[in-house]
Amino acid sequence: MGSAVDRRGASEPPDIERGEPRSVVVIGAGITGLVAAYELKRRGVTVTVFEAGSRAGGAIGTSLADGFLAEHGPNSFVSSAPVEELLSRLGLHDEVVEANPDANRRYIMRDGRLVAFPMSPLALLTTPLLSFRAKLRVLLEPLVRGGAVGADESVASFVRRRLGKEVLDYAVNPFIAAIFAGDPERLSMAHAFPRVYDLEREHGSLSKGLVRSRRAARDASKEANAADSGAHSATADPASARLISFRDGLQVLTDTLADALGGTLKLATPVRLLHRGESRWIVETGPDGAVRARAVDAIVLAAPAHAVAAMELPANIRCDALPIEQVEYPPVSSLTLGFRREDVAHALDAFGVLVPEVEQRTVLGILFSSTLFPDRAPDGHVAITVFVGGARQPELARLQTDELVRLVRTDLRDMLGVRGEPVFAKHVYWSRGIPQYSVGYGAVKDAADATEAANPGLYLTGNYRHGVSVGDCIASGQQVAEKVAAYLTRAG
Ligand SMILES: Cc1cc2nc3c(=O)[nH]c(=O)nc-3n(C[C@H](O)[C@H](O)[C@H](O)COP(=O)(O)OP(=O)(O)OC[C@H]3O[C@@H](n4cnc5c(N)ncnc54)[C@H](O)[C@@H]3O)c2cc1C
Repeated sequence: MGSAVDRRGASEPPDIERGEPRSVVVIGAGITGLVAAYELKRRGVTVTVFEAGSRAGGAIGTSLADGFLAEHGPNSFVSSAPVEELLSRLGLHDEVVEANPDANRRYIMRDGRLVAFPMSPLALLTTPLLSFRAKLRVLLEPLVRGGAVGADESVASFVRRRLGKEVLDYAVNPFIAAIFAGDPERLSMAHAFPRVYDLEREHGSLSKGLVRSRRAARDASKEANAADSGAHSATADPASARLISFRDGLQVLTDTLADALGGTLKLATPVRLLHRGESRWIVETGPDGAVRARAVDAIVLAAPAHAVAAMELPANIRCDALPIEQVEYPPVSSLTLGFRREDVAHALDAFGVLVPEVEQRTVLGILFSSTLFPDRAPDGHVAITVFVGGARQPELARLQTDELVRLVRTDLRDMLGVRGEPVFAKHVYWSRGIPQYSVGYGAVKDAADATEAANPGLYLTGNYRHGVSVGDCIASGQQVAEKVAAYLTRAG
């Protein structure tokens, strides 16, 4: 937990570095902070990024060894209009790789067997994933009454109410593990999945809402295409969104942003304290005895919620931001293993395998990395990435690599017929993985709004605020840059 200082309106330290007029500090060089800084720089703002770690990228990192490409955090993300805009600006379109069409298929484990997740209404009727009773329950969904207005319901309660327990256990639980490494009993439907939550609010039913919103998106896309035949229309049909990475992995994106920021990105420079000086914000970095202070007009705090807790902040900010410090980030381990192709019986013809909690396995999910994108493994080999831990089994995330590999190999043998020793292993442990948008998360969002309202020039962003996906973080970085630029213009 961080400490509070009360330096509101305090005089500025005499040895302070004065940032130029219209200067901004961005704290944290994850994707959100990097995009915010890049967009500010593009608008002519003098920006400095302070990053605690020795590299930029935060949760995004890629390594290449022995011909295997391993992602340390995210492996892919869904493109959107803000993403396409950023890729164009960075000149990265030629580096983009789209996921293999096989990635539309996802296997779910049921009773120890892999079953393809049903992707169409007909497949839903015939799938062995759900019992006849569960299918009937899904078909009756339009008749289910809406929940209490404004209720902050858990994902599990929402799904049980609308679709039944079996859908929760076998369809929703494994997706929650894949997206949040989270627990559906604790995540908030309204905050973790606002669009699905709104379908019930606006249309009274998920199935009716889905049909109507798909139709509306198709019509909007047709109109937009008629008006503008550009390749990256901002109104692109969400159903046709691309699942992407880069030829050399996701770190290409954060490296390109870091390169564009050049010397204004300061690595290994944790911000320890920020407060309001007489007229500007003061940011202090460095250890005791070698503190450097800088005065700037605005601050973009793009560090994770737990890092906000560790900073020294003025008492009023500490108090407003209290709910932010309590956001949970369960630990998660990412393990990429390489095998000789002949040692894996399964065709690996999909995105991967999602594992429901009721199946009681070690892994949360499996990605068929070398199916998903080209050149992830040397000829004659395959790469498989598994995630372990999360809110489901946090203790497993903390295992040492040898023990983790041993347990994971049992799952891979049972699910995919993997025999033989892995020829490659890359284990990355995230002691704090993905923020959990739990029931009551409205207090976190209100705290961020209140902190900004009470402290003009201070902006809070990052994956705990506007969505956890890489695409959400890119959009957040762009939006905060717009807000800061407008603030600087207003402040003159
Ligand atoms: C294992 C894993 C798998 C994932 N898979 C996917 C996926 O497949 N697809 C997808 O879309 N998303 C995925 N995500 C989510 C996504 O990667 C993250 O939500 C996103 O990258 C977070 O970006 P960020 O910039 O908000 O935060 P971060 O990446 O956490 O960056 C914050 C930065 O702030 C720095 N910092 C902290 N304290 C200070 C300080 N005091 N001073 C200066 N700097 C500081 C940190 O060092 C860090 O670099 C995954 C996440 C994880 C962990």
